Amino acid sequence: MKNWVHSWRDLPLLLNVWNSVLRAEIKSTKPFIRTSEFLWQEGHTAHSSEQEAENEVMQILSLYKRLLEELLAIPALNGKKSEKEKFVGALYTTTLESMMPDGRALQMATSHQLGQNFSKPFEIRFLGEDGEMHFVWHTSWGISWRTIGALIMVHGDDKGLVIPPRVAPTQVIIVPILFSESIRGNDVLSKCNQIQSDLHSAGIRVSIDLRENYTPGWKFNEWELKGIPLRMEVGPRDLSKNSVVLVRRDTGKKEAVPMENLSQIVKDQLAKIQDSLWEKANELLKTKTRDASTFQELSDILEKQGGFVRSFWCGSRDCEDKIKDKTGGDIRVIPFEQPLDLSSKKCIFCNSQAKFLVYFAKAY
Ligand SMILES: [Zn+2]
Repeated sequence: MKNWVHSWRDLPLLLNVWNSVLRAEIKSTKPFIRTSEFLWQEGHTAHSSEQEAENEVMQILSLYKRLLEELLAIPALNGKKSEKEKFVGALYTTTLESMMPDGRALQMATSHQLGQNFSKPFEIRFLGEDGEMHFVWHTSWGISWRTIGALIMVHGDDKGLVIPPRVAPTQVIIVPILFSESIRGNDVLSKCNQIQSDLHSAGIRVSIDLRENYTPGWKFNEWELKGIPLRMEVGPRDLSKNSVVLVRRDTGKKEAVPMENLSQIVKDQLAKIQDSLWEKANELLKTKTRDASTFQELSDILEKQGGFVRSFWCGSRDCEDKIKDKTGGDIRVIPFEQPLDLSSKKCIFCNSQAKFLVYFAKAY
Protein backbone atom coordinates (compact mmCIF):
# COMPACT_ATOMS: atom_id res chain seq x y z
CA MET A 1 0.00 0.00 0.00
CA LYS A 2 2.88 2.31 0.74
CA ASN A 3 3.97 2.00 -2.90
CA TRP A 4 0.45 2.38 -4.27
CA VAL A 5 -0.85 5.32 -2.28
CA HIS A 6 0.59 8.76 -3.01
CA SER A 7 -2.21 11.25 -3.29
CA TRP A 8 -5.83 11.63 -2.26
CA ARG A 9 -6.66 10.60 -5.84
CA ASP A 10 -5.41 7.08 -5.05
CA LEU A 11 -8.00 6.71 -2.28
CA PRO A 12 -9.99 4.83 -1.32
CA LEU A 13 -7.89 1.76 -2.08
CA LEU A 14 -10.11 -1.32 -1.80
CA LEU A 15 -8.51 -4.77 -1.88
CA ASN A 16 -10.56 -7.95 -1.84
CA VAL A 17 -8.92 -11.37 -1.54
CA TRP A 18 -10.23 -14.93 -1.67
CA ASN A 19 -7.55 -17.16 -0.24
CA SER A 20 -6.52 -19.79 2.28
CA VAL A 21 -4.85 -19.01 5.56
CA LEU A 22 -2.70 -21.09 7.88
CA ARG A 23 -2.79 -20.56 11.60
CA ALA A 24 -1.08 -22.30 14.46
CA GLU A 25 -4.21 -24.22 15.46
CA ILE A 26 -3.21 -27.73 16.45
CA LYS A 27 -5.35 -28.63 19.43
CA SER A 28 -9.13 -29.06 19.49
CA THR A 29 -9.61 -28.54 15.79
CA LYS A 30 -13.07 -28.98 14.30
CA PRO A 31 -13.93 -29.17 10.59
CA PHE A 32 -14.91 -25.75 9.20
CA ILE A 33 -14.93 -24.20 12.70
CA ARG A 34 -11.33 -24.35 13.80
CA THR A 35 -8.72 -25.74 11.44
CA SER A 36 -5.09 -24.91 10.83
CA GLU A 37 -5.85 -24.11 7.19
CA PHE A 38 -9.08 -22.43 6.23
CA LEU A 39 -10.59 -20.69 3.24
CA TRP A 40 -11.88 -17.17 3.58
CA GLN A 41 -12.56 -13.87 1.96
CA GLU A 42 -10.79 -10.87 3.39
CA GLY A 43 -10.69 -7.20 2.58
CA HIS A 44 -8.13 -4.50 3.28
CA THR A 45 -8.93 -0.90 2.55
CA ALA A 46 -7.31 2.51 2.93
CA HIS A 47 -9.23 5.77 3.18
CA SER A 48 -8.54 9.47 3.48
CA SER A 49 -10.71 10.04 6.55
CA GLU A 50 -11.85 8.30 9.70
CA GLN A 51 -15.50 8.74 8.71
CA GLU A 52 -14.99 7.10 5.34
CA ALA A 53 -13.21 4.14 6.97
CA GLU A 54 -16.02 3.84 9.49
CA ASN A 55 -18.60 3.79 6.71
CA GLU A 56 -16.67 0.97 5.04
CA VAL A 57 -16.54 -1.06 8.27
CA MET A 58 -20.29 -0.73 8.73
CA GLN A 59 -21.19 -1.31 5.09
CA ILE A 60 -19.23 -4.57 4.98
CA LEU A 61 -20.68 -5.77 8.29
CA SER A 62 -24.17 -5.15 6.96
CA LEU A 63 -23.36 -7.03 3.74
CA TYR A 64 -22.11 -9.97 5.80
CA LYS A 65 -25.27 -9.83 7.91
CA ARG A 66 -27.41 -9.94 4.78
CA LEU A 67 -25.37 -12.86 3.44
CA LEU A 68 -25.94 -14.81 6.66
CA GLU A 69 -29.59 -13.95 7.08
CA GLU A 70 -30.94 -13.65 3.53
CA LEU A 71 -28.91 -16.45 1.94
CA LEU A 72 -27.86 -18.85 4.70
CA ALA A 73 -30.99 -18.24 6.81
CA ILE A 74 -28.95 -17.82 10.00
CA PRO A 75 -29.80 -14.85 12.22
CA ALA A 76 -26.82 -12.91 13.56
CA LEU A 77 -26.47 -10.36 16.36
CA ASN A 78 -24.43 -7.35 15.31
CA GLY A 79 -22.36 -5.08 17.47
CA LYS A 80 -18.88 -4.42 18.79
CA LYS A 81 -16.37 -6.62 20.55
CA SER A 82 -15.06 -5.56 23.95
CA GLU A 83 -11.53 -4.10 24.18
CA LYS A 84 -10.33 -7.51 25.36
CA GLU A 85 -11.87 -9.39 22.44
CA LYS A 86 -11.18 -6.92 19.65
CA PHE A 87 -8.63 -7.57 16.89
CA VAL A 88 -5.20 -6.60 18.21
CA GLY A 89 -4.26 -3.28 16.67
CA ALA A 90 -7.80 -2.23 15.78
CA LEU A 91 -9.50 0.86 17.14
CA TYR A 92 -12.54 -1.35 17.40
CA THR A 93 -13.92 -4.60 16.01
CA THR A 94 -17.48 -5.13 14.84
CA THR A 95 -18.83 -8.65 14.80
CA LEU A 96 -21.69 -10.94 13.84
CA GLU A 97 -22.51 -13.63 16.38
CA SER A 98 -24.85 -16.57 15.87
CA MET A 99 -26.21 -19.28 18.16
CA MET A 100 -25.70 -22.98 17.44
CA PRO A 101 -28.22 -25.66 18.48
CA ASP A 102 -25.88 -26.97 21.22
CA GLY A 103 -25.98 -23.59 22.97
CA ARG A 104 -22.56 -22.37 21.91
CA ALA A 105 -22.08 -19.06 20.12
CA LEU A 106 -20.16 -18.82 16.89
CA GLN A 107 -18.42 -15.71 15.61
CA MET A 108 -19.48 -15.56 11.97
CA ALA A 109 -17.61 -12.56 10.58
CA THR A 110 -15.74 -9.48 11.71
CA SER A 111 -15.05 -6.03 10.31
CA HIS A 112 -12.37 -3.85 11.90
CA GLN A 113 -11.72 -0.13 12.08
CA LEU A 114 -7.90 -0.07 12.18
CA GLY A 115 -7.57 3.70 12.37
CA GLN A 116 -4.01 4.86 11.71
CA ASN A 117 -2.47 2.13 13.87
CA PHE A 118 -0.94 0.44 10.84
CA SER A 119 -0.41 3.38 8.50
CA LYS A 120 1.86 5.12 11.01
CA PRO A 121 4.42 2.32 11.55
CA PHE A 122 4.29 1.39 7.84
CA GLU A 123 4.37 5.05 6.76
CA ILE A 124 1.42 4.85 4.40
CA ARG A 125 0.79 8.52 3.66
CA PHE A 126 -0.92 10.54 1.01
CA LEU A 127 -0.87 14.12 -0.21
CA GLY A 128 -4.27 15.55 0.72
CA GLU A 129 -6.35 18.07 -1.17
CA ASP A 130 -5.11 20.56 1.42
CA GLY A 131 -1.53 20.10 0.18
CA GLU A 132 -0.44 18.39 3.43
CA MET A 133 0.74 14.81 4.01
CA HIS A 134 -1.66 12.55 5.99
CA PHE A 135 -1.68 8.96 7.22
CA VAL A 136 -4.42 6.79 5.68
CA TRP A 137 -7.24 5.21 7.71
CA HIS A 138 -7.44 1.43 7.38
CA THR A 139 -10.13 -1.19 7.65
CA SER A 140 -10.00 -4.96 7.35
CA TRP A 141 -12.72 -7.58 7.40
CA GLY A 142 -13.26 -11.25 6.74
CA ILE A 143 -15.68 -14.12 6.55
CA SER A 144 -14.65 -17.77 6.31
CA TRP A 145 -15.94 -21.23 5.51
CA ARG A 146 -16.80 -21.36 9.19
CA THR A 147 -20.20 -20.15 7.94
CA ILE A 148 -20.51 -23.55 6.21
CA GLY A 149 -19.95 -25.19 9.58
CA ALA A 150 -22.70 -22.97 10.99
CA LEU A 151 -25.02 -23.90 8.13
CA ILE A 152 -24.46 -27.61 8.83
CA MET A 153 -25.11 -27.19 12.55
CA VAL A 154 -28.07 -24.83 12.36
CA HIS A 155 -30.06 -26.47 9.57
CA GLY A 156 -28.82 -30.06 9.42
CA ASP A 157 -30.65 -33.00 10.98
CA ASP A 158 -30.08 -36.70 11.63
CA LYS A 159 -30.48 -37.49 7.93
CA GLY A 160 -27.70 -35.11 6.94
CA LEU A 161 -27.40 -31.66 5.42
CA VAL A 162 -30.30 -29.29 4.87
CA ILE A 163 -29.20 -26.56 2.47
CA PRO A 164 -31.23 -23.36 2.23
CA PRO A 165 -32.56 -23.13 -1.37
CA ARG A 166 -30.92 -19.77 -2.10
CA VAL A 167 -27.44 -21.26 -1.69
CA ALA A 168 -28.12 -24.86 -2.75
CA PRO A 169 -25.97 -25.74 -5.80
CA THR A 170 -28.80 -28.08 -6.79
CA GLN A 171 -32.23 -26.92 -5.64
CA VAL A 172 -34.31 -29.70 -7.15
CA ILE A 173 -33.34 -33.30 -7.85
CA ILE A 174 -35.60 -35.22 -10.20
CA VAL A 175 -35.72 -38.96 -9.48
CA PRO A 176 -37.41 -40.99 -12.23
CA ILE A 177 -39.34 -43.96 -10.87
CA LEU A 178 -38.67 -46.65 -13.45
CA PHE A 179 -39.76 -50.26 -13.55
CA SER A 180 -37.66 -52.36 -15.89
CA GLU A 181 -40.71 -54.15 -17.29
CA SER A 182 -42.56 -50.89 -17.84
CA ILE A 183 -43.06 -50.05 -21.46
CA ARG A 184 -43.64 -46.51 -20.21
CA GLY A 185 -40.07 -46.12 -18.97
CA ASN A 186 -39.16 -44.04 -21.98
CA ASP A 187 -42.17 -41.78 -21.42
CA VAL A 188 -41.02 -41.18 -17.87
CA LEU A 189 -37.50 -40.32 -18.95
CA SER A 190 -38.60 -37.97 -21.69
CA LYS A 191 -41.01 -36.28 -19.28
CA CYS A 192 -38.21 -35.87 -16.74
CA ASN A 193 -35.99 -34.30 -19.40
CA GLN A 194 -38.75 -31.93 -20.40
CA ILE A 195 -39.39 -30.91 -16.78
CA GLN A 196 -35.69 -30.36 -16.24
CA SER A 197 -35.46 -28.14 -19.26
CA ASP A 198 -38.56 -26.15 -18.20
CA LEU A 199 -37.31 -25.64 -14.65
CA HIS A 200 -33.86 -24.75 -15.91
CA SER A 201 -35.35 -22.10 -18.23
CA ALA A 202 -37.23 -20.69 -15.25
CA GLY A 203 -33.91 -20.15 -13.45
CA ILE A 204 -34.13 -23.14 -11.10
CA ARG A 205 -30.98 -25.18 -10.42
CA VAL A 206 -32.14 -28.70 -11.23
CA SER A 207 -30.63 -32.12 -12.00
CA ILE A 208 -31.91 -35.59 -12.83
CA ASP A 209 -30.57 -38.72 -11.21
CA LEU A 210 -30.38 -41.08 -14.17
CA ARG A 211 -28.17 -43.71 -12.57
CA GLU A 212 -29.46 -47.17 -13.39
CA ASN A 213 -27.52 -49.10 -10.77
CA TYR A 214 -29.36 -47.59 -7.78
CA THR A 215 -32.94 -47.95 -6.62
CA PRO A 216 -35.11 -44.87 -6.15
CA GLY A 217 -35.05 -45.47 -2.37
CA TRP A 218 -31.27 -45.47 -2.33
CA LYS A 219 -31.24 -42.24 -4.33
CA PHE A 220 -33.77 -40.59 -1.97
CA ASN A 221 -31.46 -41.27 0.97
CA GLU A 222 -28.42 -39.99 -0.83
CA TRP A 223 -30.02 -36.70 -1.88
CA GLU A 224 -31.42 -36.25 1.60
CA LEU A 225 -27.93 -36.72 3.02
CA LYS A 226 -26.68 -34.06 0.62
CA GLY A 227 -29.41 -31.64 1.69
CA ILE A 228 -31.03 -30.96 -1.68
CA PRO A 229 -34.05 -28.79 -0.76
CA LEU A 230 -36.65 -30.41 -3.01
CA ARG A 231 -37.01 -33.89 -4.49
CA MET A 232 -39.28 -34.54 -7.42
CA GLU A 233 -40.48 -38.07 -8.08
CA VAL A 234 -41.82 -38.88 -11.53
CA GLY A 235 -43.21 -42.32 -12.29
CA PRO A 236 -45.69 -43.94 -14.69
CA ARG A 237 -48.58 -43.46 -12.24
CA ASP A 238 -47.78 -39.76 -11.91
CA LEU A 239 -47.69 -39.43 -15.69
CA SER A 240 -51.14 -40.93 -16.03
CA LYS A 241 -52.45 -38.38 -13.50
CA ASN A 242 -50.48 -35.57 -15.12
CA SER A 243 -48.81 -34.78 -11.82
CA VAL A 244 -45.49 -35.21 -9.98
CA VAL A 245 -44.60 -35.77 -6.34
CA LEU A 246 -42.61 -33.13 -4.46
CA VAL A 247 -40.84 -33.91 -1.19
CA ARG A 248 -39.42 -31.17 1.01
CA ARG A 249 -36.04 -31.93 2.57
CA ASP A 250 -36.65 -29.77 5.63
CA THR A 251 -40.00 -31.20 6.72
CA GLY A 252 -40.18 -34.45 4.74
CA LYS A 253 -43.64 -33.38 3.60
CA LYS A 254 -44.75 -35.21 0.46
CA GLU A 255 -47.23 -33.70 -1.97
CA ALA A 256 -48.61 -34.51 -5.43
CA VAL A 257 -48.74 -31.38 -7.56
CA PRO A 258 -50.11 -30.84 -11.08
CA MET A 259 -47.68 -30.78 -14.00
CA GLU A 260 -49.31 -27.57 -15.15
CA ASN A 261 -47.47 -24.44 -14.01
CA LEU A 262 -44.83 -26.63 -12.38
CA SER A 263 -42.00 -24.07 -12.49
CA GLN A 264 -44.05 -21.62 -10.45
CA ILE A 265 -45.09 -24.30 -7.96
CA VAL A 266 -41.45 -25.30 -7.50
CA LYS A 267 -40.36 -21.69 -7.05
CA ASP A 268 -43.03 -21.16 -4.41
CA GLN A 269 -41.98 -24.32 -2.59
CA LEU A 270 -38.33 -23.26 -2.59
CA ALA A 271 -39.29 -19.86 -1.19
CA LYS A 272 -41.35 -21.57 1.52
CA ILE A 273 -38.43 -23.79 2.50
CA GLN A 274 -36.12 -20.77 2.71
CA ASP A 275 -38.65 -18.95 4.90
CA SER A 276 -39.29 -21.86 7.18
CA LEU A 277 -35.56 -22.53 7.72
CA TRP A 278 -35.19 -18.85 8.59
CA GLU A 279 -38.08 -19.00 11.04
CA LYS A 280 -36.76 -22.14 12.67
CA ALA A 281 -33.30 -20.61 13.09
CA ASN A 282 -34.86 -17.47 14.56
CA GLU A 283 -36.82 -19.59 16.99
CA LEU A 284 -33.58 -21.30 18.00
CA LEU A 285 -31.96 -17.93 18.69
CA LYS A 286 -35.02 -16.80 20.64
CA THR A 287 -35.27 -19.88 22.83
CA LYS A 288 -31.53 -19.81 23.46
CA THR A 289 -31.42 -16.19 24.58
CA ARG A 290 -32.16 -15.52 28.24
CA ASP A 291 -31.89 -12.56 30.59
CA ALA A 292 -29.99 -12.72 33.85
CA SER A 293 -30.16 -10.16 36.63
CA THR A 294 -27.77 -11.79 39.09
CA PHE A 295 -24.37 -13.33 38.63
CA GLN A 296 -25.64 -16.62 40.05
CA GLU A 297 -28.34 -16.69 37.39
CA LEU A 298 -25.78 -15.92 34.68
CA SER A 299 -23.48 -18.76 35.72
CA ASP A 300 -26.35 -21.22 36.18
CA ILE A 301 -27.67 -20.57 32.68
CA LEU A 302 -24.22 -20.81 31.10
CA GLU A 303 -23.52 -24.03 32.97
CA LYS A 304 -26.85 -25.81 32.55
CA GLN A 305 -28.53 -24.51 29.41
CA GLY A 306 -25.95 -22.58 27.43
CA GLY A 307 -27.11 -20.08 24.86
CA PHE A 308 -26.84 -16.30 25.00
CA VAL A 309 -27.33 -14.57 28.32
CA ARG A 310 -28.35 -10.93 28.03
CA SER A 311 -27.12 -8.81 30.86
CA PHE A 312 -25.49 -5.55 31.90
CA TRP A 313 -21.81 -4.78 32.29
CA CYS A 314 -19.84 -1.89 33.77
CA GLY A 315 -17.23 -1.94 31.00
CA SER A 316 -14.32 -3.00 33.22
CA ARG A 317 -11.80 -5.55 32.02
CA ASP A 318 -11.54 -6.90 35.53
CA CYS A 319 -15.22 -7.92 35.66
CA GLU A 320 -14.99 -9.38 32.15
CA ASP A 321 -11.96 -11.51 33.11
CA LYS A 322 -13.53 -12.74 36.35
CA ILE A 323 -16.79 -13.68 34.64
CA LYS A 324 -14.82 -15.66 32.07
CA ASP A 325 -12.79 -17.33 34.82
CA LYS A 326 -15.80 -18.34 36.87
CA THR A 327 -18.25 -19.31 34.10
CA GLY A 328 -16.26 -20.02 30.94
CA GLY A 329 -18.48 -17.53 29.12
CA ASP A 330 -17.33 -14.31 27.53
CA ILE A 331 -18.83 -11.17 26.13
CA ARG A 332 -19.67 -12.18 22.58
CA VAL A 333 -21.09 -8.88 21.47
CA ILE A 334 -21.97 -5.41 22.69
CA PRO A 335 -25.02 -4.81 20.47
CA PHE A 336 -25.22 -1.59 18.48
CA GLU A 337 -28.76 -1.19 19.76
CA GLN A 338 -28.45 -0.21 23.40
CA PRO A 339 -31.26 0.72 25.79
CA LEU A 340 -31.76 4.48 25.85
CA ASP A 341 -31.49 4.68 29.62
CA LEU A 342 -29.01 2.56 31.55
CA SER A 343 -29.05 4.70 34.71
CA SER A 344 -30.93 2.12 36.76
CA LYS A 345 -28.89 -0.83 35.45
CA LYS A 346 -26.07 -2.47 37.41
CA CYS A 347 -23.12 -4.58 36.30
CA ILE A 348 -23.96 -8.27 36.62
CA PHE A 349 -20.68 -8.90 38.44
CA CYS A 350 -19.66 -5.86 40.52
CA ASN A 351 -23.05 -4.19 40.85
CA SER A 352 -21.69 -0.76 39.90
CA GLN A 353 -23.26 1.48 37.25
CA ALA A 354 -23.74 -0.44 33.97
CA LYS A 355 -22.40 1.02 30.74
CA PHE A 356 -23.56 -1.61 28.26
CA LEU A 357 -26.12 -4.26 27.55
CA VAL A 358 -24.09 -7.30 26.44
CA TYR A 359 -24.53 -10.91 25.38
CA PHE A 360 -22.51 -13.53 27.22
CA ALA A 361 -22.04 -17.07 25.93
CA LYS A 362 -19.67 -19.97 25.77
CA ALA A 363 -18.31 -20.06 22.26
CA TYR A 364 -16.64 -22.27 19.71
ZN1 LIG B 1 -18.49 -4.65 36.71
